[in-house]
Amino acid sequence: MINICFHGVGTPQRELEPGEDRYWVGTGQFHQILDELSTWPEVRISFDDGNVSDVTDALPALLERELTADFFVVAGRLDTPGSLDRDDVRALREHGMRVGTHGMWHRSWRGMDPVTRERELVTARTVLAELTGGPVDLAACPLGSYDRVVLTHLRRLGYQRVFTSDRRRARPDAWLQPRFSVMQPDTPESLRTEIRVKPGVVRRAQAGLVGVAKRLR
Ligand SMILES: [Zn+2]
Repeated sequence: MINICFHGVGTPQRELEPGEDRYWVGTGQFHQILDELSTWPEVRISFDDGNVSDVTDALPALLERELTADFFVVAGRLDTPGSLDRDDVRALREHGMRVGTHGMWHRSWRGMDPVTRERELVTARTVLAELTGGPVDLAACPLGSYDRVVLTHLRRLGYQRVFTSDRRRARPDAWLQPRFSVMQPDTPESLRTEIRVKPGVVRRAQAGLVGVAKRLR
C-alpha cells in the first residue's frame, strides 16, 4: 500500500508555519497528480491540516475521479480564516470522506505534559466526533513527529490507525501507516519514479525469483 499525503492546494488563506509552503501544491499540479494517483491500484490518499482547500479544491477533484480520501483536521483551527469550518467537515463526511484528528493546535505530540496530551489526543478527537456524529479513530501525527510514548498513548486511547510521514510503503492492515507527503516541486513523473517504480523494481525481481523457483520444481 502506498499512502500519499497532501497538505494545501492553491493559494494559502492563512499565515503558514515556517517551511510549510514546501508542502503546498498548485491547483493544476494537484489535478495532474490526482490523475496519476487514480491509475495506481494500491494507493490511499490523505489531506492534513484542515485547510479550506480541502473543500474548495480537494473534495470536488476527488468526487470527479470517484476517489475517497482521509482528512486529518486540526480541531483548534476550525472556523478560523483559511481553515475548514464545521459545515465543511460535515460536508466531507456526507460525501463519503473519512475524517481523522490531527490534534488541537498542530504541535508535536512528543514530550507533552498530561494536560496538553489530554487536549491534543482526547479533546480534539471529541470535538471532531461530535461534529461528524461518529467515532473518530484515525489520527495523523502533526509534523510527522512521534515516539514510542506517543504511540503507546494512541494505542491505549483506541485509535484504529495512526498515520506518520515516514516515506515508506505500508502494509494495508498495519496499525502504523507511513505516508509519502507530496512536496511543492513534485510532478506525476517524480512521484511515479520516486515512489511507485522504485519499490516495483524489487517486486519484479521477487516475481522473477518465484518464476525461477517454479521452473526448478
Ligand atoms: Zn500537519
